Amino acid sequence: LGQRNQESEIEKMDKQYVWHSMKPYNPDATMVIEKAKGVWITDHTGKKYLDAMAGLWCVNVGYGRQELAEAAYDQLNQLAYYPLTQSHKPAIKLAEKLNEMLGEEYVIFFSNSGSEANEVAFKIARQYHQQNGEHARYKFISRYRAYHGNTAASLAATGQAQRKYKYEPLAAGFVHVAPPDMYRMKEEADKPVQLNSVKAVDHAMTWELSDTVAGVIMEPIITGGGVLIPHQDYMKGVSEVCEKHGALLIVDEVICGFGRTGETFGYMNYGVKPDMITMAKGITSAYLPLSATAVKREIYEAFMGSEEYDYFRHVNTFGGNPAACALALKNLEIMEKENLFERSKEVGNRLLSDLQGLLREHPFVGDVRGKGLLIGIELVSDKETKEPLEVGLVNEVISICKKNGLIIGKNGTTVAGYNNVITLSPPLTIEKEDIEFLIKTLVEAFQEITSGD
Ligand code: PMP
Repeated sequence: LGQRNQESEIEKMDKQYVWHSMKPYNPDATMVIEKAKGVWITDHTGKKYLDAMAGLWCVNVGYGRQELAEAAYDQLNQLAYYPLTQSHKPAIKLAEKLNEMLGEEYVIFFSNSGSEANEVAFKIARQYHQQNGEHARYKFISRYRAYHGNTAASLAATGQAQRKYKYEPLAAGFVHVAPPDMYRMKEEADKPVQLNSVKAVDHAMTWELSDTVAGVIMEPIITGGGVLIPHQDYMKGVSEVCEKHGALLIVDEVICGFGRTGETFGYMNYGVKPDMITMAKGITSAYLPLSATAVKREIYEAFMGSEEYDYFRHVNTFGGNPAACALALKNLEIMEKENLFERSKEVGNRLLSDLQGLLREHPFVGDVRGKGLLIGIELVSDKETKEPLEVGLVNEVISICKKNGLIIGKNGTTVAGYNNVITLSPPLTIEKEDIEFLIKTLVEAFQEITSGD
């Protein structure tokens, strides 16, 4: 009993002192998480949950990997900190490793978060065009529903109005176009959906005047906006549009990177070569903050050798800090040794087809889609009209799962009514019996909401 009193005291203190950011995403009481191992997290009461949402924070190698803690510990003892205005071996080795993984020559700029990695990409793109004498290129095209971060420009790039309107004016120069929503656009016109979505980017460039556009930012798969898997040719189409208009293609791999979609990076599913690639949490499996903007060497070289442009003015204190880089190197080594990218594809394909088989006939399930271990289940109240399921029922599925020891996510736009895509993204290390638990618990939750128990 003493223990219980102490535990509720913790919850009280949490309410009193900690300002949480995710309230609307969390229909139940906030959990106080105490420890985690593999795919399982344990709260302060000792209750265990399978974390099938871990992929949104990219704990790709699973929780509690001692090798990662040791890599950080050893590095902290050797050299705890030095800024990257000079250099150190962990950052150099990590940049080399990322270069090898990207399969082409990229130069790496380190920072601290996904938001900052995107800010860096925007600044580099604008400065790069200026270096080429194109002083008017400052705009970026982004897609509605996409999330790109919480800082002034990365929030401006975000295509979810509900997240933004209280904080405007944000950074200027961000233009949004419709995303490729294959489920909702299926019946639209007789033209292939992907061409309409590519044309939306092309038209935006034209109407904005191409020579004012610095670049396009896109995730290979819009994750936070509802796991929108594009047509196989969509990304290639956008890449060609960028080339035609002289804009740079910036690919946000903050969630899709590091194996989530079954390839090393998400864009590798779609045969494009981005000008810049931003990455964050998955680089350390979220054990320590670190992010990176990979920049094509020819862009980097354009900054060199001219007095006015030979440096990029973005200094940060913690970007590429030695402990995070050392941990990231170990994390990437584990991913390779355990073949986690390939595993994500195999296990994800199986999970997707099992869920499609079990859930497609359910009256509330409009679509079950995914790539690798990133799966979205779009809930509707009417399969014909595709009316989104009311959020109370979406929350009920999440709450029932939670009660039964499974954490799942909810995504979509934050526009009321469209937060209706259940998201599954467990660590890439998830084992067969845990997958079975996930499927069973989820299917039972769907049965429970229709039976009204
Ligand atoms: N881009 C995408 C696609 C994201 O999902 C996120 C965060 N979920 C970010 C950028 C921002 O990353 P951070 O929270 O590290 O700033």
